[in-house]
Amino acid sequence: MAENKKIKDLKSKLLYEKQNVHKTLTNEEITAADNFCEGYKAFLDNGKTERLACNAAITIAEKAGFKEFVQGKKYKAGSKIYVNNRGKSLILAIIGKESVANGVNIIASHIDSPRLDLKQNPLYEDGGMAYFKTHYYGGIKKYQWTAVPLALHGVILKADGTAVTICIGEDDNDPVFCVTDLLPHLADAQYKRPAKDLIKGEELNILIGSRPFKDNKETDTIKLGIMKLLNEKYGITERDFVSAELEAVPASKARDIGFDKSLVGAYGQDDRVCAYTSLMAAIETKSPNKTLVCVLADKEEIGSYGNTGLGSLALEYFITDLADMENIPVRRVLSKSKCLSADVSAGFDPTFPDVSEKNNAAFINCGVVISKFFGARGKAGTNDASAEYIGEIRQLFDKNNIIWQTAEMGKVDAGGAGTVAMLIAKMDVDTVDIGVPVLSMHSPMEVTAKSDIYMAYKSFKAFYDN
Ligand code: MN
Ligand code: MN
Repeated sequence: MAENKKIKDLKSKLLYEKQNVHKTLTNEEITAADNFCEGYKAFLDNGKTERLACNAAITIAEKAGFKEFVQGKKYKAGSKIYVNNRGKSLILAIIGKESVANGVNIIASHIDSPRLDLKQNPLYEDGGMAYFKTHYYGGIKKYQWTAVPLALHGVILKADGTAVTICIGEDDNDPVFCVTDLLPHLADAQYKRPAKDLIKGEELNILIGSRPFKDNKETDTIKLGIMKLLNEKYGITERDFVSAELEAVPASKARDIGFDKSLVGAYGQDDRVCAYTSLMAAIETKSPNKTLVCVLADKEEIGSYGNTGLGSLALEYFITDLADMENIPVRRVLSKSKCLSADVSAGFDPTFPDVSEKNNAAFINCGVVISKFFGARGKAGTNDASAEYIGEIRQLFDKNNIIWQTAEMGKVDAGGAGTVAMLIAKMDVDTVDIGVPVLSMHSPMEVTAKSDIYMAYKSFKAFYDN
């Protein structure tokens, strides 16, 4: 017996075992996690597109005392500021007690999610119905987007330059839209297609109406009927779609999953789960030593290109403004800065174990995930954080009782992915990927665990407090 105990002790001292959050969380902490996720679910429901998420984040930040950044103004320690980048991405900061010469603490996540974007000439009529043509945004399994209720969001710039905001399908009294799929009875030929073409891109057509004008010999009367409704409500004509950004997203609301309500099921958790947790960590940090920077970026799902994505210089320009306040070259600030690139990780799914290597997979309820690297085919296209920086983060998390795990995205050569980490590392900033494990990533119903969400929040708070 004594020998057994000795081995047990030695095991716990020398061997590593992944820890389920629920083994160590107190009942109070579980309640705190559950409560935290009520705010999170509301954020998801209010922020289903990058524009809406940006707005929702500004509302939360302004309530917490953040004010729009004024270039050239000198800010004192504790000042809370934000930069709204074209209504689609957001940078928040709290000025630290220390000089920015010591670097700033950045957490960067993204608020765009995969969806169906309308084409620039979307409207057509066929088979006695009216439809919108779409071009999908981000990496989706196209078949998952058929036969689910869709809401429509976005903005239309009319010929006279005025903007109209569109939001249809969120209110219970609103109509919704959908992409129709073939009935199984007639799907023999469809089943023979490769799975990625089960639904083809050009088959993601959104059904938007079917009522023609009565007793009329003209063609396109269903299309005309739809346009008449849209003209009455929004004052638009068909040509106005050319200067519009309209996004179809799942109309469903965020829900608890499971008898124990331990999980969150919702659209757009990649990566609004990291956006919300980092935003809350930022606004709840009172007066940080180092200047805190919280970035909610756009365009990550399509490669971070565009001036609202992290591939643009917008973040560097903002940190330059901070450096200019103290007359310090921005490169000196950047090379001392630290970043958590906050994005979701693939959670281990026991129904599909073959794509994961269990020793290096992210498990649901095992805490926030640190990923040294993402990438594909021999780590290509990744940041690959240094042992030194991960060592630093590890110490910080252990000191603050954060439950965390490490993981990579699936088995070697099973596929791969990228994040914004390399774009921030490019500015000479120490960067590592961190995030929440997600099941059914990029689907209309992504799944996360409340305890992991809470651990992400706690880890971001510890990073900003450091
Ligand atoms: Mn992501
Ligand atoms: Mn993604």
